[in-house]
Amino acid sequence: MAALVSHFISTRNPQLKATLSDVVFRSLAPDGGLYMPNHIPVLPAEFWQNCHTLTLPALATEILAAHLKQFVPKEVLASICADAFDFEVPLVPLEQGVHVMELFHGPSLAFKDFGARFMARIMAYLLQSGQGPTQDAQQSVHVLVATSGDTGGAVAMGFLGTPGIKVTILYPSGKVSHLQEKQLTALGQNIRALEVNGSFDHCQALVKQAFSDADLREQLVLTSANSINYCRLLPQAVYYAWAYAQLKDQLAQETRLGNRLVFSIPSGNYGNLCAALILREMGCPITALVASSNANNVVPRFLQSGTYEPKPTVATLSNAMDVGQPSNWERITHILGHDHKAIGKVLVGHDFSDEVTTLAMEQIIHLRGYVLEPHTAVGYLGLKSYQKNHLPCMGVVAATAHPAKFLEAMPAVVAQEVTIPERLAALADREKVATYIEPDYTTFRQFLLANT
Ligand SMILES: *Cc1c(COP(=O)(O)O)cnc(C)c1O
Repeated sequence: MAALVSHFISTRNPQLKATLSDVVFRSLAPDGGLYMPNHIPVLPAEFWQNCHTLTLPALATEILAAHLKQFVPKEVLASICADAFDFEVPLVPLEQGVHVMELFHGPSLAFKDFGARFMARIMAYLLQSGQGPTQDAQQSVHVLVATSGDTGGAVAMGFLGTPGIKVTILYPSGKVSHLQEKQLTALGQNIRALEVNGSFDHCQALVKQAFSDADLREQLVLTSANSINYCRLLPQAVYYAWAYAQLKDQLAQETRLGNRLVFSIPSGNYGNLCAALILREMGCPITALVASSNANNVVPRFLQSGTYEPKPTVATLSNAMDVGQPSNWERITHILGHDHKAIGKVLVGHDFSDEVTTLAMEQIIHLRGYVLEPHTAVGYLGLKSYQKNHLPCMGVVAATAHPAKFLEAMPAVVAQEVTIPERLAALADREKVATYIEPDYTTFRQFLLANT
């Protein structure tokens, strides 16, 4: 077994020595870089040979312990994983050489449940064991989150009932779907929602201003549950290992496929793809990763041209991927280096318009009777483009959201096939509780100080 992770560094400073508590409670390194382990641990060949014998929580424990066991005892990680990953991750065979990995069976029906649920439990453990940002056991830690939809739901449900933590979610009024809004506002307990009369950018600006308000931070312990947090990103490596474990025997039998395994990942901030890359570095035999995007295609353009050129965000049907400047790209180049050719050996990029995405949704319901929502449809298209241009492989599409959450973005012939899961339907009947505010910092600050 390779050396253990001893500390965390910054993508901008390999000399930094950060603890897990720094990583979890600060999200961003002091120099503005992103936290990474001092090296990525490699799991031995025997582990990959036998991984199909493990349950999902047991597999998760091994992957996560390789990174975290110097900071969190393995027994604690095992019980956190058993509690956090207690839902199914089915691999649905869709076509020859194409599986859909359904990551949307968690409580908020998004793959972000993996990261948010794990992170909430790690935060709670660090607080309970005296490794939190405050030594005062009476003082709550405030998690602030600005959301355009999916993140808020996963974080709210992930942190619901977590002792010592209060969550404040800011969302743009009228700009999230009805069911998404209920996921943010109908939970109660330690979750509070602020409905901001403005855009997502206003919400994010308020949160940023709070973090840079030294006087406020004297009075409150603030932290974020941002997608750049390494403890939200790392648990996403688990389901790629799960897919490998479920498919490896079939892959070995179909000699035509040459043991080639490829994941297509519908991407926005590139956390999900970065997690797959980390797993590959850990020794999981993954041939390539497809960066599948909508019109916000900075990464596919880079992979084709060698020029990295962020552009303003454009609105699309797959709106959780509407990101002009992906925050995790800095981690990806930290792992793969900056050389365009070297990066191109592992990542392949494809991007698709809303028109093409809609056609794919219609075609797949028609040909296969399977519902693709817009994000997963982009992933499916990316895999098909990859397979057209490369040797045969076993392809897996990461299905990032439940179709019930994106009914408005689907053609009617597809939307009519969707059954709304009971737990989402149940939320629809619960009362919305949110405080309506103008996008004004003084009001936001007063709310926080009045609701400690
Ligand atoms: C967040 C999200 C994505 C994008 O994931 P990244 O890790 O930001 O690349 C894709 N699809 C859905 C449904 C999401 O919620």
